[in-house]
Amino acid sequence: MKFVVMKFGGTSVEDAVAIDRTARIVANRRAQGVLPIVVVSAMAKVTDQLIAAASAAGRGDRAGSLAISARLRHRHHDTARKLLLPAGAPIGSEPPPFAEFAEWIDKQFESLDEIFRGLAAVGELTARTGDMVVSYGEQLSSRMVTAGFAARGLDAVHVDSRKCIITDAQYGRAIPNDALIEKRLEEVVLPLLKEQKLPVMGGFIGSTEEGVTTTLGRGGSDFTAALVGGGLNASVIEIWTDVNGIMTTDPRICPDALRVKTISFEEAAELAYFGAKVLHPATILPAVQKNIPVAVLNSRNPENEGTRITALASHCRSPFKSIAVKKRLTIIDVVASRMLMSHGYLKSIFDVFDKHKCAVDMVSTSEVSVSVTVDSNEKLPEISADLSKVADVKYEGRKALICMVGEDIRGQNGIAAQVFQAIRHVNVRMISQGASEINMSFMIEEDDVDEAVRSLHAAFFQDPDPEVFDVQARAVASAVPESVGR
Ligand code: ADP
Ligand code: ASP
Ligand code: MG
Repeated sequence: MKFVVMKFGGTSVEDAVAIDRTARIVANRRAQGVLPIVVVSAMAKVTDQLIAAASAAGRGDRAGSLAISARLRHRHHDTARKLLLPAGAPIGSEPPPFAEFAEWIDKQFESLDEIFRGLAAVGELTARTGDMVVSYGEQLSSRMVTAGFAARGLDAVHVDSRKCIITDAQYGRAIPNDALIEKRLEEVVLPLLKEQKLPVMGGFIGSTEEGVTTTLGRGGSDFTAALVGGGLNASVIEIWTDVNGIMTTDPRICPDALRVKTISFEEAAELAYFGAKVLHPATILPAVQKNIPVAVLNSRNPENEGTRITALASHCRSPFKSIAVKKRLTIIDVVASRMLMSHGYLKSIFDVFDKHKCAVDMVSTSEVSVSVTVDSNEKLPEISADLSKVADVKYEGRKALICMVGEDIRGQNGIAAQVFQAIRHVNVRMISQGASEINMSFMIEEDDVDEAVRSLHAAFFQDPDPEVFDVQARAVASAVPESVGR
């Protein structure tokens, strides 16, 4: 059997029109004789709003959290009505499946409100309860999409991802258990496919072996798609989003970004890790391990061939394939003159980051100082306090990382000079060329990002290689307003 995992992001299921478009894309794939497994995100912006509601409740703001929940309930009802009712049917005379589904939505929001009331009473939000709350986004959207697909004649069956995506208990960023996931997918999803059914599951959410709800980290639905694709040995994993594929840079910053036609696993992983939001960094790994190609496609423009991520990079005459930007970073400078020539210094520093489970993005060192960059987070004061025991510490936020990725920068002379010439007016704080030699990264002020990215894009993508970049169509995403969130 030939399976395809089709993952639709928040904007691809943001309302009834988007879900209807998604249904047509899936129906087309089925008509081509492939068996899709559909993975969906929460409707656009829902996860952000659930997080805001949970934090409000955690601060004791009961009314605030319930108000957000009421708006979300209304939005889900409204979408369900438009999706499941024949156009023009009078409200109040709703036949099943709408009536039944509306009742189910109400039940979900009643239990969600119960959690918010409890959180507000206690005035404390734990990571475990946070995961419980945000999981409603994907639970709601995946049921909604299943109902919408069924109403359009597709043989859709909802699969609760928490039965298959088994993880450890690191709430907020749980680590999947590959072996158990594979086993569960074989037990739960494979039989459905054998009956020619269309499984629909929520991305991002999972559960511990004991059945406690977890999540895979923000943007984690891509990761779910890759886990499902890897577990079932899919022939391709399709990531459907709101742009034509992986672009030469974020089209919101640079509207004339070009689609990259093919990119290697290694390049895509580097881009994703260093901030290109289009793909979750962990997506690539399960695909690489099983050599499953990944395609990034546009649900608003399904005819476009998108980007294909494959094992080998295609030869490209431009040194870079894409420029990624990661914002909201903090630089931590650690200086300890007394450590000059002594050993174990770096270990003592990194032990602190390890203790706080804080991932470090970039590191630069001299004999007595180490600068590292981390995602801005609420643990910084504690990390800084711990580091102060071994050195002088200062940290500064509002920094951004620019990462230039390209297979062909290996061994080319003069590239760094061209990069820094292009952004000569920008203050560069740290520089690193990865050991993989396929990225060149540096830190700048967040306020300088737009100017720097546009200058770099102009310098390196003026004369793009038509074999690798889509020179015909410029990014459609320039039409996507900044406010479109996930
Ligand atoms: P989804 O909800 O489908 O997961 P995301 O918002 O997570 O969508 O990712 C798509 C967005 O990623 C695009 O709208 C675009 O603004 C942004 N993006 C950032 N860098 C890139 C890039 N190099 N190529 C394409 N899109 C990018
Ligand atoms: N809904 C989750 C988020 O917004 C996961 C995802 O969309 O990939 O982070
Ligand atoms: Mg995403």
